[in-house]
Amino acid sequence: MQPQSPVSDPAIKEPSFRESVDLMFNRAVALLQLPPGLEQKIRVCNATYTVRFGVRLRGDIHTFTGYRSVHSEHMEPVKGGIRYSPHVNQDEVEALAALMTYKCAVVETPFGGSKGGLCIDPLEYDERELELITRRFAYELAKRDLINPSQNVPAPDMGTGEREMAWIADQYRRMNTTDINANACVTGKPIHAGGIAGRVEATGRGVQYALREFFRHPEDVAKANLTGKLAGKRVIVQGLGNVGYHAAKFLQTEDDSIIIGIIERDGAIHSPEGLDVDAVKAWITEHGGVRDFPGATFIENGAMLLEEECDILVPAALEGVINLNNAANISANLIIEAANGPITFGADEILRKKGIVIIPDMYANAGGVTVSYFEWVKNLSHIRFGRMQRRQEEARHQLLVDELERLDRYLGGAWSMTPDFKDKYLRGADELELVRSGLDDTMRTAYQSMREVWHGRDDVHDLRVAAYIVAIDRVAKSYQSKGL
Ligand code: GLU
Repeated sequence: MQPQSPVSDPAIKEPSFRESVDLMFNRAVALLQLPPGLEQKIRVCNATYTVRFGVRLRGDIHTFTGYRSVHSEHMEPVKGGIRYSPHVNQDEVEALAALMTYKCAVVETPFGGSKGGLCIDPLEYDERELELITRRFAYELAKRDLINPSQNVPAPDMGTGEREMAWIADQYRRMNTTDINANACVTGKPIHAGGIAGRVEATGRGVQYALREFFRHPEDVAKANLTGKLAGKRVIVQGLGNVGYHAAKFLQTEDDSIIIGIIERDGAIHSPEGLDVDAVKAWITEHGGVRDFPGATFIENGAMLLEEECDILVPAALEGVINLNNAANISANLIIEAANGPITFGADEILRKKGIVIIPDMYANAGGVTVSYFEWVKNLSHIRFGRMQRRQEEARHQLLVDELERLDRYLGGAWSMTPDFKDKYLRGADELELVRSGLDDTMRTAYQSMREVWHGRDDVHDLRVAAYIVAIDRVAKSYQSKGL
């Protein structure tokens, strides 16, 4: 469900989403000394493929328009989701593909950036129709290597999920029956179709890990005029889709943050005492929106809640929701961009002048592609993630257990190991634990690299420029080592 956008004044002109990303890139690249030409090579989108295809539905031929944009092939495969939305257009897909390049570089997943989109309102079609449309779109992309385990690996995005990824994987497999790595052609698949534990929650989980890491650094927390930890912090979330829901739920149930506001398509709800995220989610499923949720104030123009006082604002829906129309009124201390591009270039400048700290999208929502990387590796290795490590761990643990038992015998049975301890010790980590710890490690390491730039350079004053500098530097080095 898409939340409302702020009421916009048509007199206020803003750059497009892609131009906004380019302007942010320019602000950072101006601080680097890149060889002539390389700067432009990194900035531009390499290619965008547009396809129009017909599918016979309800006795008629319906024509659909789709895109797959490849921003940078400094590493292959290129990676990025496929979005289903009636608002998809070339400019948006290219902006999102560029963000994928920088995102992958910041969290060091060895991919170039890509993104796809289909102009469709998925709610207008039933499951069988969506399968026909998705398979046809996948066919069009796969026959041009725009879906391929070694060239271009899509994933879920807004409007798509495990179900669509399973159809795409199956379609590719049918077209490439001898490709032993067919399963790695797309990530975000269901577990029983080659997926990995923890992929659905991954982006929201990454937002939580990013915030935890931020709050480990009192110096950074102070820059946002905050103190202490995540516990008790007042949070407003825009969009209770996959990303917003998981982020809000984990922050509430595991970090004791207070979710005081939730913005959805039909409006927003506010409660200073806090909203139960799971109860709100269930309410939306049952009633189609947040209106009338018990114990909360309903705000008809939901976007107004973006301006409400809170410690942390989590835009987790659309791009451009914080723009020149409302930036001056934002009163959060810290904004974490769970969505891609929720703050326009102009709004970013206003927020920075107000002293608001922004944890940028390319880092904040990189949890999804990080776990996609684990899934891709799992598919290519043809072994359940963690299975080998677990065998090794078990063997090592057994040695220790044997040794402890020998000690016990030596002590004449005075000490004995509880069966529970022995059981847990021998079990080792399962796939979900490995995925979560790998993601946590990734989010911590990536934050450290941004932080070094943020604090280490006199000409860098915000995390977005720091993130761009880290990303551009890595992409540039990759191009340079190729001889470009
Ligand atoms: N669509 C997600 C993103 O924007 C995930 C991409 C992926 O896993 O490849 O980051």
